[in-house]
Amino acid sequence: MLAAQILSRLQTVLGDAKKPIPLHEPCFAGNEWDYVKDCLDSTYVSSVGAYVDRFEKALQDFTGVKRAVAVVNGTAALHIALKLAGVEAGDEVLVPALTFVATANAVVYLGGVPHLADSDDLTLGLDPVKLQAYLEEITAPREGGCYNRFTGRRIRAVVPVHTFGHPADLEALQEVCARFRLVMVEDGAEALGSFYRGRHTGNWGQSAIISFNGNKIITTGGGGAILTNDEELGRQAKHLTTTARQQHRWVYSHDQVGYNYRLPNINAALGCAQMEKLPEFLEKKRRLAGKYAAAFQSVAGVRFFTEPAFARSNYWLNVLLLNDKNCAERDRILEESNNQGIMTRPAWTLMHQLPMFKDCPRMDLSGAEGLEARLINIPSSPNL
Ligand SMILES: *Cc1c(COP(=O)(O)O)cnc(C)c1O
Repeated sequence: MLAAQILSRLQTVLGDAKKPIPLHEPCFAGNEWDYVKDCLDSTYVSSVGAYVDRFEKALQDFTGVKRAVAVVNGTAALHIALKLAGVEAGDEVLVPALTFVATANAVVYLGGVPHLADSDDLTLGLDPVKLQAYLEEITAPREGGCYNRFTGRRIRAVVPVHTFGHPADLEALQEVCARFRLVMVEDGAEALGSFYRGRHTGNWGQSAIISFNGNKIITTGGGGAILTNDEELGRQAKHLTTTARQQHRWVYSHDQVGYNYRLPNINAALGCAQMEKLPEFLEKKRRLAGKYAAAFQSVAGVRFFTEPAFARSNYWLNVLLLNDKNCAERDRILEESNNQGIMTRPAWTLMHQLPMFKDCPRMDLSGAEGLEARLINIPSSPNL
């Protein structure tokens, strides 16, 4: 029985970890208490304080981007990154069908239409070859950009997602974007600590986003960031996410409709402490992934997903992929592991299967559908 075999391998790797074992648990073992207490002692818990600057600097140093702007969550980061990419009401934005709902939601916040694209087995992310062939078929270049010949709408941007922390094929996607004059915004919500060809993800798009939600590789409680190498875009991101308030010591004036998306200082304090631990988290998660890879090597019918050759992944959420002919076993495996206190879950419900996105334009999604049918996430906390 495949289910029994998988369960016994999970047990072997997870050893005597306390049950129930969550998929991804935050870990606070550093300066979190000191920095948060410092905020409380100083009363700087909210929208003013030094930890925000310090957190942004730490993110810049780690990822190598010129500008990181800390915001309230990853979804808000996507909203603003897409707005700054020029997405306007009526525009289409290509997003993977296999993603967390926030990627598509952010498009709709701007009055845009998510256009669903397929993912491949090599990266779990957007399939650049299929995307290029599809765009050749459905688009016509016109003054002002790339237009969908069938809907008449402009296609403005592409949002590759680094699924479960594994980098999408950024260079290939960058070429597709250049060819069709599309802006690339990387949804790196899950990818802090993931590198593509030796450089941190987030350096390929016009901008990128990260999330610091409680289940991500580091957490600020709730939080996110916009990353960019375009200093002017970074300045605009800061301005828009801080109510577009003009700098002045006492005058309150705003030059456009902005957003109150700034990350509070108390959350940034948590983030500073977490960033100090990030290298250790990455090392531990790599070790765990190595154990899973070894444990599942000899199990026929399933494979542990490992990073593509061009990537060094953070292994944020570990992935088992069943063979095609075993996908009927998926639900039994989910049921039995959860019954035994080992949390597992399937991939997200695909975007075109959600009621609000069922009529969105889409390409053939057989890659994403195949992955969704075969994929199981398994416990991935750094402390396992
Ligand atoms: C977590 C996540 C987001 C949203 O981040 P929040 O901080 O939860 O708003 C967006 N995209 C992906 C792929 C995510 O995993």
